[in-house]
Amino acid sequence: MRLIFFGPPGVGKGTQAQIVSRKLGIPHISTGDILRNEVKNKTPLGLKAKSYMDEGTLVPDEIIIEMMKNRLSESDCSVGFILDGFPRTLPQAQSLDRMLSELELSLDYAVNFEISEEEIVKRLTNRRVCSKCNSIFNLLIDQLEDNARCPRCGGELYQRSDDRSEVIRRRLEVYHEATRPVLDYYKEKKILLTVDANGSVKEVTNRLLSLLNSSTS
Ligand code: AMP
Repeated sequence: MRLIFFGPPGVGKGTQAQIVSRKLGIPHISTGDILRNEVKNKTPLGLKAKSYMDEGTLVPDEIIIEMMKNRLSESDCSVGFILDGFPRTLPQAQSLDRMLSELELSLDYAVNFEISEEEIVKRLTNRRVCSKCNSIFNLLIDQLEDNARCPRCGGELYQRSDDRSEVIRRRLEVYHEATRPVLDYYKEKKILLTVDANGSVKEVTNRLLSLLNSSTS
């Protein structure tokens, strides 16, 4: 299955993508994770992307599109994929269509995750990520102390530098201006599904899987 997980930062799409990717046996491709890895390794791509990411603005389309062309041509994508954080602009969505049609593939669904802005800010400020296995946690939901280690692998948990409140505001503005129009693009293609992202991780996963099941059967 070829899926896009779509929605504002902090809605929980990365968490759900990690779970559903394991369940369906398809790769989870997060442009944010790829970029953070490049930044960590101080690669030329990482050095270019860092300032945009620190400010909460978008990395230029041509950089992202080139990066995704390479990623989607890797062999693990032959079984399908979940795209998380891409496409984030209309030119990215149009490029994705071109990339897929060159590979004679098409998307199954774009899944839109919906919650209130108040809940988003709460989730983002309490989000912690494992520096070793990339698992995502929430201090409140997972009942973790601020200095806790990763419950899954014991790695160090950190707060993303763009999860500070001043950057969160900017990221939400960017979402409304540049990314939200992508929703209409998939609505017109009649492949948009919407899932209520309120509630526990498990509740959202169950809702999401039954939506995917009922849409594909
Ligand atoms: P995320 O982990 O998806 O919230 O992404 C973190 C940051 O990486 C974003 O705030 C952007 O600066 C950058 N980024 C990730 N995906 C994209 C994309 N598709 N287009 C442009 N910038 C991106």
